[in-house]
Amino acid sequence: MKFDLLEKRSSRRDILRGSVTLAGSAFLAHLFPAPLLRAYAAAPSVAPSAPDLLAYMRDWFNTFPMETQQLADNVTMFDGPGGAVVVLNGPDGKFVVDSFVAPAWPRLKEALDGLGNAPVQYLIDSHWHFDHTDNNAHFHAAGATVLAHQNTKKRMSEPHDLPVLLRAPNGVLIGLHFDPSPAEALPQETFSDSYKLQANGETIALQHVPAAHTDTDIYVHFQNVNVIQMADLFFNGMYPYIDPGTGGKITGVIAAAAKILSLADNDTKIVAGHGPLGNKSDLTKFRDMLVTARDRVEKLKSAGKSAQEAVADKPFADLDPVWGKGIINGDQFVQIVYLTL
Ligand SMILES: [Zn+2]
Repeated sequence: MKFDLLEKRSSRRDILRGSVTLAGSAFLAHLFPAPLLRAYAAAPSVAPSAPDLLAYMRDWFNTFPMETQQLADNVTMFDGPGGAVVVLNGPDGKFVVDSFVAPAWPRLKEALDGLGNAPVQYLIDSHWHFDHTDNNAHFHAAGATVLAHQNTKKRMSEPHDLPVLLRAPNGVLIGLHFDPSPAEALPQETFSDSYKLQANGETIALQHVPAAHTDTDIYVHFQNVNVIQMADLFFNGMYPYIDPGTGGKITGVIAAAAKILSLADNDTKIVAGHGPLGNKSDLTKFRDMLVTARDRVEKLKSAGKSAQEAVADKPFADLDPVWGKGIINGDQFVQIVYLTL
């Protein structure tokens, strides 16, 4: 089943009025992509006909298995139900980055408890998207301080309609609507540029980047153990989602990749928001692909072509066999690049 990305907006009523039968994996994955290709196998084959789409997506993400990977003696990655969660653990407590979707909370809590009795001191949000921030309130209720870039708090405080919509085969437009988050889900501490935490013998450096995947993104550098968590600034091995509705810019994603490449060495573990754990070589390939994609679409756009005409030109035909097999296909990525130039 195939869906086209459109530039038009649609009201939530239009969205929910639609009686649409969808292939869940194809439809949902290119809104908020799944961590790994294997996730497709776990996706339900049919979505509800008049769904509360956001609730459905939460449940769908929660069908993913959670995998554990040790990145260093005191740093653990949990990967699965929405992004990748990284935990620094030790006598000073736990410091957690990102939090999966809400229905995954019991599994995440169990996994965190399994690391030891130390309380979670801080939960850090990499950006505002719900598959990374959904358990803010749970963490705060358990005593943690939620820390994020100031734009994350701003975006979570506002309503958003996803401007890149999908057209189902029957012609109905579908999109996502986000209500403002309740007060208890908002970050308690924010910063404007950078922030440093010292704990458990580690230095955690948080750095905002100019508009990239969204305008809320930070990367998290665990400096002593040589781990950099890029979250959704990096989709390892696949075309990325870039959010035109909250300030996403492809040039910003390229700049973020270049910045991390300047910090990384050949041993640096680079945590992607979606896709397997990466390294400098993976990130270099990702950056090079983005530069090629940006240049080609920029040329078409400056020649006066519409997004649909740019898609029809198939500018990524040679890239698709490598990058288009994951979450976003080549046609969709042409439109994402076009909208985020
Ligand atoms: Zn995201």
